[in-house]
Amino acid sequence: RTVYVNGQYLSEHDAKVSIFDRGFMFGDGIYEVTTVLDGKLVDFAGHCARLGRSMRELDMKTPCTDDVLLAIHRELVARNALVEGLVYLQVTRGAEDRDFAWSDAIQPTVVAFTQVKSLAASPLAARGARVITVPDLRWKRRDIKTVQLLYPSLAKMQAKAAGKDDAWMVEDGFVTEGTSNNAFIVTADGTLVTRQLSTSLLHGITRATVLRHAGDTGLRIEERPFSVAEAQAASEAFVTAATSFVTPVVEIDGTPVGTGVPGPVATRLREIYIEESRKSAI
Ligand code: PLP
Repeated sequence: RTVYVNGQYLSEHDAKVSIFDRGFMFGDGIYEVTTVLDGKLVDFAGHCARLGRSMRELDMKTPCTDDVLLAIHRELVARNALVEGLVYLQVTRGAEDRDFAWSDAIQPTVVAFTQVKSLAASPLAARGARVITVPDLRWKRRDIKTVQLLYPSLAKMQAKAAGKDDAWMVEDGFVTEGTSNNAFIVTADGTLVTRQLSTSLLHGITRATVLRHAGDTGLRIEERPFSVAEAQAASEAFVTAATSFVTPVVEIDGTPVGTGVPGPVATRLREIYIEESRKSAI
């Protein structure tokens, strides 16, 4: 694979980052994952905007313009002949002697690489995901897409150990989001419910796009918190994320959701999402 490190395209075997990088030492970095379909980037503008926001919230220096970021993404897709998969982009604050405080002189480290992945044809989406719930023990700025993913990784491992697919995180009795996706339910009266944006959850790019499509199809939408019990009693549940699009959730803590198989709303929204993403990808 050809990867990108600080202005250079290199073989992944030659790519190096300092052990003093604050991303490595402090988890002081942010990232974006952009889906590639048919060799093109899905929702790139949204990912770029969120990257900029994450950097501003953490007072990080902007390493380059959005146009340069786009050029890096396209170059990596081309050099790796990527048709379907993702581009991972990470910006960390940079490297200097270890100290909680950083200096004004610190320069960001930019790393990007591609990953081949079959996305549109998904066995998990066809079967539906089974989730467990865990307390949300992450820090309180989940709206910033930091590389501090230890707790969601532990939650995902807990789900796997229980023979399930993923975990939904719960705070004060309400679902915040999945380990790497936003959570939705469809209530018995056909209303689409997802938690409103705040610092409690990541502002998913896919979440926003799916809400737009759902609105276009005339679905009633409520952005509010929902409890685990409400989700278990819902007629459908699903999650959204850049590389998994819309994935039905068919079981929560052992309780089947609706009929226990992927429902019509999630299935339709997945189809629309993939179709529209192929059309609008750049
Ligand atoms: N929530 C969390 C915690 C995530 O890590 C992610 C993405 O990986 C999402 C939600 C979905 O965001 P997006 O749709 O922008 O991929």
